[in-house]
Amino acid sequence: PPDVEQLGRSSWTLLHSIAATYPEKPNPTQQQDARQFISSFSRLYPCHWCATDFQKWMKSAEHAPRVSSRSEFGQWLCEAHNEVNAKLGKDLFDCTRWEERWCTGWKD
Ligand code: FAD
Repeated sequence: PPDVEQLGRSSWTLLHSIAATYPEKPNPTQQQDARQFISSFSRLYPCHWCATDFQKWMKSAEHAPRVSSRSEFGQWLCEAHNEVNAKLGKDLFDCTRWEERWCTGWKD
Protein backbone atom coordinates (compact mmCIF):
# COMPACT_ATOMS: atom_id res chain seq x y z
CA PRO A 1 0.00 0.00 0.00
CA PRO A 2 1.17 3.59 -0.58
CA ASP A 3 2.79 5.68 2.16
CA VAL A 4 -0.27 7.71 3.24
CA GLU A 5 1.78 10.70 4.45
CA GLN A 6 3.96 11.01 1.35
CA LEU A 7 0.99 10.36 -0.90
CA GLY A 8 -0.91 13.09 0.97
CA ARG A 9 1.83 15.72 0.67
CA SER A 10 2.26 15.04 -3.05
CA SER A 11 -1.49 15.02 -3.62
CA TRP A 12 -2.12 18.31 -1.80
CA THR A 13 0.73 19.84 -3.82
CA LEU A 14 -0.93 18.69 -7.02
CA LEU A 15 -4.41 19.84 -5.95
CA HIS A 16 -3.36 23.28 -4.69
CA SER A 17 -1.11 23.75 -7.74
CA ILE A 18 -4.03 23.01 -10.04
CA ALA A 19 -6.11 25.63 -8.21
CA ALA A 20 -3.19 28.09 -8.32
CA THR A 21 -3.13 27.98 -12.12
CA TYR A 22 -6.92 27.66 -12.55
CA PRO A 23 -8.40 30.56 -14.54
CA GLU A 24 -9.74 33.64 -12.72
CA LYS A 25 -12.72 33.41 -15.07
CA PRO A 26 -13.13 29.73 -16.04
CA ASN A 27 -15.46 28.94 -18.92
CA PRO A 28 -18.14 26.25 -18.48
CA THR A 29 -15.85 23.52 -19.89
CA GLN A 30 -13.08 24.41 -17.46
CA GLN A 31 -15.55 24.38 -14.55
CA GLN A 32 -16.86 21.02 -15.69
CA ASP A 33 -13.27 19.69 -15.93
CA ALA A 34 -12.52 20.85 -12.38
CA ARG A 35 -15.71 19.28 -10.99
CA GLN A 36 -15.08 16.02 -12.82
CA PHE A 37 -11.44 15.92 -11.79
CA ILE A 38 -12.32 16.35 -8.11
CA SER A 39 -15.10 13.81 -8.35
CA SER A 40 -12.88 11.20 -10.03
CA PHE A 41 -10.00 12.00 -7.69
CA SER A 42 -12.25 11.41 -4.67
CA ARG A 43 -13.18 7.97 -5.99
CA LEU A 44 -9.73 6.89 -7.23
CA TYR A 45 -7.53 8.24 -4.40
CA PRO A 46 -5.37 5.27 -3.40
CA CYS A 47 -5.95 5.54 0.37
CA HIS A 48 -9.39 4.11 0.70
CA TRP A 49 -10.44 5.42 4.11
CA CYS A 50 -9.12 8.87 3.06
CA ALA A 51 -11.18 8.70 -0.13
CA THR A 52 -14.32 7.60 1.73
CA ASP A 53 -14.10 10.46 4.24
CA PHE A 54 -13.36 13.00 1.49
CA GLN A 55 -16.41 11.84 -0.50
CA LYS A 56 -18.58 12.01 2.62
CA TRP A 57 -17.40 15.56 3.36
CA MET A 58 -18.09 16.69 -0.23
CA LYS A 59 -21.59 15.20 -0.24
CA SER A 60 -23.09 17.86 2.03
CA ALA A 61 -24.40 20.86 0.07
CA GLU A 62 -22.25 23.34 2.00
CA HIS A 63 -19.08 21.45 1.02
CA ALA A 64 -19.84 20.90 -2.67
CA PRO A 65 -16.84 21.86 -4.83
CA ARG A 66 -16.74 25.56 -5.73
CA VAL A 67 -15.11 26.06 -9.11
CA SER A 68 -16.46 29.42 -10.33
CA SER A 69 -13.05 31.14 -10.06
CA ARG A 70 -9.45 30.55 -8.99
CA SER A 71 -10.01 32.08 -5.57
CA GLU A 72 -13.24 30.13 -4.98
CA PHE A 73 -11.54 26.87 -5.97
CA GLY A 74 -8.49 27.68 -3.86
CA GLN A 75 -10.60 28.53 -0.80
CA TRP A 76 -12.67 25.39 -1.23
CA LEU A 77 -9.55 23.21 -1.42
CA CYS A 78 -8.11 24.98 1.61
CA GLU A 79 -11.29 24.14 3.54
CA ALA A 80 -11.13 20.53 2.35
CA HIS A 81 -7.48 20.31 3.43
CA ASN A 82 -8.35 21.89 6.81
CA GLU A 83 -11.03 19.27 7.32
CA VAL A 84 -8.31 16.60 7.04
CA ASN A 85 -5.93 18.66 9.22
CA ALA A 86 -8.62 18.79 11.92
CA LYS A 87 -9.30 15.06 11.65
CA LEU A 88 -5.58 14.34 12.10
CA GLY A 89 -5.15 16.84 14.97
CA LYS A 90 -2.91 19.12 12.88
CA ASP A 91 -2.97 22.93 13.01
CA LEU A 92 -5.54 24.55 10.74
CA PHE A 93 -4.15 26.58 7.86
CA ASP A 94 -5.16 30.26 7.57
CA CYS A 95 -7.03 30.22 4.24
CA THR A 96 -6.49 33.97 3.75
CA ARG A 97 -2.85 32.93 3.09
CA TRP A 98 -3.71 30.29 0.51
CA GLU A 99 -2.69 32.48 -2.43
CA GLU A 100 0.55 33.46 -0.73
CA ARG A 101 1.47 29.82 -0.09
CA TRP A 102 0.45 28.35 -3.44
CA CYS A 103 0.43 31.18 -6.04
CA THR A 104 2.75 34.02 -5.16
CA GLY A 105 5.16 32.52 -2.63
CA TRP A 106 5.68 33.37 1.06
CA LYS A 107 7.00 36.80 1.92
CA ASP A 108 9.42 36.30 4.85
P1 FAD B 1 0.09 18.22 4.40
O1 FAD B 1 -1.21 18.19 5.16
O2 FAD B 1 0.30 17.17 3.37
O3 FAD B 1 0.24 19.68 3.75
C1 FAD B 1 1.31 20.01 2.86
C2 FAD B 1 1.53 21.51 2.93
O4 FAD B 1 0.34 22.18 2.53
C3 FAD B 1 1.80 22.04 4.32
O5 FAD B 1 3.15 22.00 4.66
C4 FAD B 1 1.28 23.46 4.27
O6 FAD B 1 2.25 24.36 3.77
C5 FAD B 1 0.18 23.39 3.26
N1 FAD B 1 -1.15 23.35 3.87
C6 FAD B 1 -1.56 22.76 5.03
N2 FAD B 1 -2.87 22.90 5.21
C7 FAD B 1 -3.32 23.60 4.14
C8 FAD B 1 -4.61 24.06 3.76
N3 FAD B 1 -5.69 23.85 4.51
N4 FAD B 1 -4.71 24.75 2.60
C9 FAD B 1 -3.62 24.99 1.84
N5 FAD B 1 -2.38 24.57 2.14
C10 FAD B 1 -2.23 23.89 3.29
N6 FAD B 1 -4.02 11.16 6.00
C11 FAD B 1 -4.47 10.34 6.98
O7 FAD B 1 -3.69 9.89 7.80
N7 FAD B 1 -5.81 10.03 7.08
C12 FAD B 1 -6.73 10.52 6.19
O8 FAD B 1 -7.93 10.21 6.29
C13 FAD B 1 -6.27 11.38 5.13
N8 FAD B 1 -7.14 11.86 4.21
C14 FAD B 1 -6.64 12.57 3.15
C15 FAD B 1 -7.53 12.98 2.16
C16 FAD B 1 -7.07 13.65 1.05
C17 FAD B 1 -8.03 14.07 -0.03
C18 FAD B 1 -5.67 13.93 0.91
C19 FAD B 1 -5.14 14.63 -0.32
C20 FAD B 1 -4.79 13.54 1.91
C21 FAD B 1 -5.25 12.87 3.04
N9 FAD B 1 -4.40 12.46 4.06
C22 FAD B 1 -4.87 11.67 5.08
C23 FAD B 1 -2.97 12.89 4.09
C24 FAD B 1 -2.79 14.12 5.00
O9 FAD B 1 -3.71 15.17 4.65
C25 FAD B 1 -1.38 14.73 4.91
O10 FAD B 1 -1.05 14.98 3.55
C26 FAD B 1 -0.26 13.89 5.53
O11 FAD B 1 -0.61 13.59 6.88
C27 FAD B 1 1.08 14.66 5.51
O12 FAD B 1 0.89 15.85 6.25
P2 FAD B 1 1.90 17.05 6.36
O13 FAD B 1 1.82 17.53 7.76
O14 FAD B 1 3.22 16.70 5.80
O15 FAD B 1 1.31 18.24 5.43
